[in-house]
Amino acid sequence: MQSQKQFPRLFSFEFFPPNTPEGKDKLCAATEELAVLKPKFFSVTYGAGGSTRERTLDTVLDIRKMGYAAAPHISCVASTHTNIREWLQRYKDNGIKHLVALRGDLPSGLAAAGEFRYANELVEFIRREFGDTFHIEVAAYPEFHPQAKNARDDLDNFKRKVDAGAHSAITQYFYNADAYYRFVDACDKMRIAIPIVPGIMPIGRFSQLARFSDACGAEIPRWMRKKLEAYADDTESIRAFGLDVVTVLCEDLLKNGAPGLHFYTLNQAGLTKAIWQRLGL
Ligand code: FAD
Repeated sequence: MQSQKQFPRLFSFEFFPPNTPEGKDKLCAATEELAVLKPKFFSVTYGAGGSTRERTLDTVLDIRKMGYAAAPHISCVASTHTNIREWLQRYKDNGIKHLVALRGDLPSGLAAAGEFRYANELVEFIRREFGDTFHIEVAAYPEFHPQAKNARDDLDNFKRKVDAGAHSAITQYFYNADAYYRFVDACDKMRIAIPIVPGIMPIGRFSQLARFSDACGAEIPRWMRKKLEAYADDTESIRAFGLDVVTVLCEDLLKNGAPGLHFYTLNQAGLTKAIWQRLGL
């Protein structure tokens, strides 16, 4: 964890672009509620294969109009160099200087037919075509990416993104703090020297969390899964348990030198705000 301690702490909140006017109003309210906590930025996801890209940009611009910093995500899977260049140019023309660069996933059943295979190629492309225009965040996986051949390869692949010019990383969420510490220690040994900010998933609904975790390979430890299953439809107990567990996780991470936290808010301010207040940040 030594290298992470040199970086200033940075807090950020992630949203997805809403697709209804009501969703947009709710997101505006959530933005105002969370902005009080003074995050460094809000980030806005980019739907599989670019499916939300107009709404991603609109959402970023809406947040900026409210007076807050916002960074769009961009993914390269199934895209051509021409598409990505045009889209980055739109980001640049709109004064965007910060983005999260990903490979992305295709909706199941679709085959990729793009000109980028992996996120390191996207980072390389952004740096080659746009120089230092953007501060580039990339994804990191303390419990390893589900498609990685093995842990060693996944670390090497993470390093490729850093060598290609990524400035910082945000992790997939996890509930095993040790996985993050071991990942960061391995990065130290490989001389990877960028901030690696833990991604934090507050716990609201167990069925949703289990679905996400199965898809992205973030482990719900057995003791947590058993407890959550036992609460069944008792949402109040799930929420109370989740707040306890995630607050302790965040405390531990910050105490041990994590350079901030990135909250996957799922467009809801409540749980993130409650954790924040418990942390006394
Ligand atoms: P990569 O870094 O390319 O890695 C993907 C897999 O390929 C890994 O198994 C890796 O080990 C392997 N690999 C990488 N490079 C190579 C190489 N050169 N040779 C061989 N193998 C290689 N998805 C979205 O669709 N939209 C979003 O907005 C979005 N936001 C996210 C934000 C965060 C912080 C995180 C953690 C994830 C996000 N995702 C998003 C999910 C992400 O797109 C998926 O996890 C996707 O499967 C991998 O993307 P990546 O950029 O990490 O890919």
